[in-house]
Amino acid sequence: MWRNYCQSCTLPPLERLVRSTGASFRRPQGLYISLKEKGKILEVLKNWPERNIQVIVVTDGERILGLGDLGCQGMGIPVGKLSLYTALGGLRPSACLPVTIDVGTNNDRLLNNEFYIGLRRRRATGQEYAELLDEFMTAVKKNYGEKVLVQFEDFANHNAFELLAKYKPTHLVFNDDIQGTASVVLAGLLAALKLVGGTLADHTFLFLGAGEAGTGIAELIALEISKQTNAPLEETRKNIWLVDSKGLIVSSRKGSSLQHFKKPWAHDHEPIKGLLDAVKAIKPTVLIGSSGVGKTFTKEVVEAMASLNEALSLSLSLSHSHKHTHTSTHAHQNFYLTVVSIIGMQKPIILALSNPTSQSECTAEEAYTWSEGRAIFASGSPFDPVEYNSKVYVPGQANNAYIFPGFGLGLIISGAIRVHDDMLLAASETLAEQVKQENFDRALIYPPFYNIRKISAKIAAKVAAKAYELGLASRLPRPKDLVKYAESCMYSPLYRSYR
Ligand code: NAP
Ligand code: MN
Repeated sequence: MWRNYCQSCTLPPLERLVRSTGASFRRPQGLYISLKEKGKILEVLKNWPERNIQVIVVTDGERILGLGDLGCQGMGIPVGKLSLYTALGGLRPSACLPVTIDVGTNNDRLLNNEFYIGLRRRRATGQEYAELLDEFMTAVKKNYGEKVLVQFEDFANHNAFELLAKYKPTHLVFNDDIQGTASVVLAGLLAALKLVGGTLADHTFLFLGAGEAGTGIAELIALEISKQTNAPLEETRKNIWLVDSKGLIVSSRKGSSLQHFKKPWAHDHEPIKGLLDAVKAIKPTVLIGSSGVGKTFTKEVVEAMASLNEALSLSLSLSHSHKHTHTSTHAHQNFYLTVVSIIGMQKPIILALSNPTSQSECTAEEAYTWSEGRAIFASGSPFDPVEYNSKVYVPGQANNAYIFPGFGLGLIISGAIRVHDDMLLAASETLAEQVKQENFDRALIYPPFYNIRKISAKIAAKVAAKAYELGLASRLPRPKDLVKYAESCMYSPLYRSYR
């Protein structure tokens, strides 16, 4: 709407430039903390008019959506995420604090724009960066206590993993790009199993993109399999493979292209460059795109997924049936059907998560037509339903907004002091349970969004239950009916009746 207004408006060119680059500062929507405030962050926090803060969403603006480095203009993200916390999770607006940490920007367009309000310097790194973030995290805990939730948002991956690992043991922290994405995608996979059969452990996963989203999802899948099968995590990781900009991540890879967050996924295999070759070699049953690069699931890739999975279930069934005592064709056929319904791999699962729509790995229509209607498909960006061979397929959207508002609400109503991975698994399982038969009938693996407040309350209840179970909850005694309690805590933008 804003863009339409701008394109058709009659503002003088300079004013239009200022507006279209978002550089015109009008009013503060959140709290800015820059390197200049070093040593005074606690004082700055005290200047915020609201005292009772429950959730902080903080960014340093380095990787805003797919837009890259927006410097201190990344403020839209904390503000937007917190609006969703209120709208979908029922958190009070006054208890939400958006923060942008300004450590400079490497975006030359901003540095050269006279209206840019942020620091005019390149991004601080190393000790200078770490010290500012540490002062911020310490001040937050000092000012708001142990139970304030700090959500890291849209940090570049070279900082995101480190910040999460560093503050997880001492603060209530959550990274939506890593953990929220992982939880929503795992939910889709758990639901998809109802359509393809088998358990997660029966599947082989291949990712295109090994950043925050890719490795975050991979790790949560491995954790869930480990929980279900009691197998050690190192074992369950072995059926999960990732391709990044250098190709398949393998154990022979050395040096700077094997960052620490990729190491658990460096399995034994010869190096492979392209995705199609990786698909042919790894023979995945689940293909997940999380590279941010569009049109990478080509016709050949989707066709390979479709034919591989058909062939895989057939060869599996035949090799099993040879050992089997039945000899008649009929028995073979029956056995084949049983194996297919148990292993169920005749339907490839294809998730094209990259955003925005232009960067999607493939469209819904491409996934359905190239796989001849067999793909179970969901995406990061929304796609309309597709009609193929007179059947309507509804693609799901793996939107993080399914998870984080309810997840945060669950932490807050239980007074949780730490986030535990089991809470993420609980959130995924709860979301997956909300998918109904009528959704499955249209190959949809996420519940419709219009029920989101109810879904959030259920997720909140399960997350809170985990917090109590793990001894991480501080709000005692535990409410008996956690769903009712979650609903009763939710804020609604309604006027009270005084009659
Ligand atoms: P990230 O941390 O920057 O990771 C990007 C990964 O993709 C890196 O491993 C990178 O390889 C790899 N890559 C880049 N270009 C590639 C290419 N041409 N071929 C193969 N791999 C390539 O980004 P992220 O936070 O994970 O986000 C990735 C995408 O997922 C974005 O489009 C984002 O919008 C989307 N996403 C969707 C959801 C959702 O659907 N709910 C949630 C979160 C993110 P190197 O490591 O070699 O550089
Ligand atoms: Mn994000």
